[in-house]
Amino acid sequence: MNQQITAQQLTDAGHLMIGGCDSIELAHEYGTPLVVYDVSQIRNQIRSFRKVFEENNVDYAVSYASKAFAAIAMYQVAAAEQAHVDVVSAGELYTAIKAGFPMERVSFHGNNKSKEELEMAIDHHVGIIMIDNFHEIDLLSAVLESKNTTVDVMLRITPGISAHTNKYIQTGQVDSKFGFDLQSGQADEALQKILANPRMKMRGLHAHIGSQIFELAGFKGVAKKLVEVAAHWRDQFGYEAEVINVGGGFGIRYVSSDHPLRPEEFVDAIIKAIKSETSVKGLAMPAIWIEPGRSIVGPAGYNLYTVGSRKDVPGLKPYVTVNGGMGDNIRPALYQAAYETVLASNPQAPIKEHVRLAGKYCESGDILSQDQGLPDTKPGDVLAMLDTGAYGYSMASNYNRNPRPAVVFAENGQAQLVIERESLDDLISLDRSYAQ
Ligand SMILES: *Cc1c(COP(=O)(O)O)cnc(C)c1O
Repeated sequence: MNQQITAQQLTDAGHLMIGGCDSIELAHEYGTPLVVYDVSQIRNQIRSFRKVFEENNVDYAVSYASKAFAAIAMYQVAAAEQAHVDVVSAGELYTAIKAGFPMERVSFHGNNKSKEELEMAIDHHVGIIMIDNFHEIDLLSAVLESKNTTVDVMLRITPGISAHTNKYIQTGQVDSKFGFDLQSGQADEALQKILANPRMKMRGLHAHIGSQIFELAGFKGVAKKLVEVAAHWRDQFGYEAEVINVGGGFGIRYVSSDHPLRPEEFVDAIIKAIKSETSVKGLAMPAIWIEPGRSIVGPAGYNLYTVGSRKDVPGLKPYVTVNGGMGDNIRPALYQAAYETVLASNPQAPIKEHVRLAGKYCESGDILSQDQGLPDTKPGDVLAMLDTGAYGYSMASNYNRNPRPAVVFAENGQAQLVIERESLDDLISLDRSYAQ
């Protein structure tokens, strides 16, 4: 029996319900593979984050890290929930612009922003440029000079804290490609450059220690470290940070053996750590910004697939193959991410066998799940993979020239198509024939 699905998530017919909609009906209406978001779950998570700040009576921003799932509809939901957003490319920025997202609530991140991207950000008056490296200071300075304007900035530092998580999703250790190093004095040098530049208004400092983090210690550590840096900057350079941005990375439950704190509990601990540390250092309480991505959209997303072929080899775990795979969710192949999958027509059906859930892509590594307990399944059955909302569709590819799936938002029993399924013509729309 799946522990993640409660009785409230079943229709009268016993089917998996997502946002008040019957998952089997969604699969029939929109086809599979299909990505479905329970929108009220997205809203509730943003609201829970905001509530914890309000209860602690601190100035804040909840900035949704939109790389987890970027779409016009998603920026619209974030806007309606009073969130800020992080963008990391011209493409994400463009999507936010087209969604009508308020630009003053956009933070532009990235460790190699191009001149064109910086120009676009300045032309559209984004709220904050998160400065990552010395090259960017020079590039941004030139862009601001040529446009005769100013912008608010924050400095991303590498706090030297390594979170206990997969090495591919760690970012806070000293040897990281992101941000200014503290120990060697690079962060101080960057601060001085920015303070000396009248076109850049320094708002505060930022760090992000990684993703899918379960331990409180890493977050408390980064909070304390950022306050220490703020105190050092005040003492050394007379600069007082208005904002301390602790990044995102709050871990979520993918499988039953995961037992993370609720995301807002991490944030509560961060707020309290910053409060106590600033009072020790005699600093005014700054605004606290967070950048959750996965925790906002991950649990709200479901991937619906249809069962096709099957391979049984005596003595080995069978392969049950679905009509999607690494093209719509690369995470299992990329870093052995684990998920749980249920039979959409009866999520609580007793488990009959343990299978490998295989994708349809031409890679032996295209296995969505190495060990999934399922009832008996047959071709045509719809399977629902849970918690796929973060870094699934956003990392989708057209490998093997498979079209990317459609995305549906479901809320209060209403479903809306928010990203169309790619067509075969979409796949060749950028191809040009070769005159030989
Ligand atoms: C990816 C990223 C986040 C979001 O991380 P999650 O694990 O999805 O919460 C936040 N801030 C920065 C700078 C990031 O790169």
